Amino acid sequence: MTVRPTAAALVKDGEAAPDGALVRAEGLTKRYAVRTREGKRTLTAVDRVDLSIGEGRIVAVVGESGCGKSTTGRLLLALERPSEGNVTVSGRDLNALSAKELRLLRRDIQPVFQDPYDSLNGRMTVERILSEPARVHGVIQGGPGGARTVADLLDLVGLGAAYAERYPHELSGGQRQRVAIARALALDPRFVVCDEAVSALDVSVQAQVVNLLSRLQRDLGLAYLFISHDLALVRYLAHETAVMYLGRVVEQGPTERLFTDPRHPYTQLLLAAVPRPRARHGRARNRVAAAGELPSPLDRPRGCVFSTRCPLATNRCRNEEPELRPVGPDGRTAACHYAETAEVAA
Ligand code: ADP
Repeated sequence: MTVRPTAAALVKDGEAAPDGALVRAEGLTKRYAVRTREGKRTLTAVDRVDLSIGEGRIVAVVGESGCGKSTTGRLLLALERPSEGNVTVSGRDLNALSAKELRLLRRDIQPVFQDPYDSLNGRMTVERILSEPARVHGVIQGGPGGARTVADLLDLVGLGAAYAERYPHELSGGQRQRVAIARALALDPRFVVCDEAVSALDVSVQAQVVNLLSRLQRDLGLAYLFISHDLALVRYLAHETAVMYLGRVVEQGPTERLFTDPRHPYTQLLLAAVPRPRARHGRARNRVAAAGELPSPLDRPRGCVFSTRCPLATNRCRNEEPELRPVGPDGRTAACHYAETAEVAA
């Protein structure tokens, strides 16, 4: 007799999604054919990534520039197709959907990108920008099951009705990002990919927009994939965090546990590199960096992807790739042979 796993049993990170995942990536892989001086090569941007995002949950993806965060986001948004693996949204495999079905599903999954200047059409008024999703999807604004009205959207993001007449260049950076968030919410999505959504903003404005994202997430029960290089922000916002390195998820789990007791040497170094202004004895804590250069994704190390920079690497690490496996009882996973004992942070 075969026993079918329940939805909850399929969720890899334990408490992540009590009633099944809204968005799930399994074995997600993206390779690009690139031209180099040596000829055509294959670049692996995302490599066998598993993620599960429950309804109303915030999952952060962190890691150095070029580790595959944005590509993962684009794959979850179905803006690109995976080379291998799949993404399911509410149990529906994006690879298996017809163009029409995918269009319908896109209402549920929306992006907020870093630079609202790029993503907002400068020739449109805010009113037009916020009405566009309804027009594109052929739904009525304000009707049941339709799109939100412009007034409702402006109100949601804390902008007055007068902003409807303005053009993007007449707005501050924070106001433009509020409009971009409002546009993402126009069709009442359930899942929003925030890709460095506040990184371009001044620090004081950043805090306001982060609080807005947090309030909207709670009030509307949204799920976020929160892509960021800002670890303090991630710690503040995210329920769970996945740490990426050269296309691989190397550690994943409940944010607070991961920040207080990182198990992968890369996570330990990443967290140690965050300056702590109020360190003991008033001294700023030293930055501890991983040794050497970040390898090119064209020449990924064999064995553990982090082995060329890891202070603890052994022959085993250089030859045998560690699987992402449970470490401890708290739903944490880490891809390190020595995750139970690894300690590299100063
Ligand atoms: P991150 O968001 O973490 O900075 P990205 O997902 O943007 O990383 O990129 C991961 C890797 O994939 C990088 O080496 C990047 O140069 C490469 N990459 C991303 N998109 C493409 C593309 N369309 N063609 C070729 N290489 C790409």
